[in-house]
Amino acid sequence: MKSKKVTLEQVIEAVRADDYIGFCLVCGAETSGVEPDARNYGCETCGEHEVFGAEELLLYTGLMERKI
Ligand SMILES: [Zn+2]
Repeated sequence: MKSKKVTLEQVIEAVRADDYIGFCLVCGAETSGVEPDARNYGCETCGEHEVFGAEELLLYTGLMERKI
């Protein structure tokens, strides 16, 4: 399986778009219809429960302390 990293830029863009986009931390797949604070959602691409909402991912990076 190809592994693709989710970049911070992708995450910030998703938060800005406010479009319910989440990312899978295993395969990097972008998933729509994910709540911003979602955690451990099932990934439609790889089947792992590692899909996190965009805002939740930003929290991990600590960037949410600075308003974007
Ligand atoms: Zn996945």
